[in-house]
Amino acid sequence: MTGERVDVLRLGYRLGRDPRITTHLALVSRALGADRFLLSGDEDPKMFENLSSVGNRFGGGMECEHVKGPVRWLKRFVEDDAGDGKPGVAIHLTMYGEPFREAIPRIRRDRPIAVIVGGAKVPGEVFKYSQYNVAVGNQPHSEVAALALFLDAWHGESASERTFDDARLIIDPSANGKSVRDLDRLEEE
Ligand code: SAM
Repeated sequence: MTGERVDVLRLGYRLGRDPRITTHLALVSRALGADRFLLSGDEDPKMFENLSSVGNRFGGGMECEHVKGPVRWLKRFVEDDAGDGKPGVAIHLTMYGEPFREAIPRIRRDRPIAVIVGGAKVPGEVFKYSQYNVAVGNQPHSEVAALALFLDAWHGESASERTFDDARLIIDPSANGKSVRDLDRLEEE
């Protein structure tokens, strides 16, 4: 993906309750153009291993990291250091926000962004520190849907057409059924 780095930060992860939907958030992040997936709340090395296994097979291994203090992380990201010693831009996905398609053209693209996805309870500081609080419709729905629609609008068409040079399994688009090339097997033959 071209452009500045895109981080996705998932707040308030709960082991035992959230693995499936959080794995889906990470898979959507990888497939639709994020560079890093950050998880706050419980730690879950097993989930990170599963994500890494997807990256090993389908390419595009995404950096995954656990964040202990998400509000502290966010404050530092927007005020001091987005990874290069300069502030970044945080965009919080919330059903209370302004329409995302209206906000996107106003968001600067010359700095890394962090897309913040809420969990069971979103601390008030997240609204305060995020430069943008954006809604994908002002109705409660799914964080996975909100993230996918946001990343699609942020990157444009190229988001869903992302491919990875280091893929070992490559799906060739087909209107009739499954067509998958397994490079490891082809190299053996
Ligand atoms: N019960 C939680 C609360 O009271 O904050 C919200 C649960 S919701 C499924 C989890 C996350 O999904 C939210 O924090 C937000 O990031 C995202 N989300 C849900 N609906 C959204 C919408 N309409 N627009 C943007 N994000 C949304």
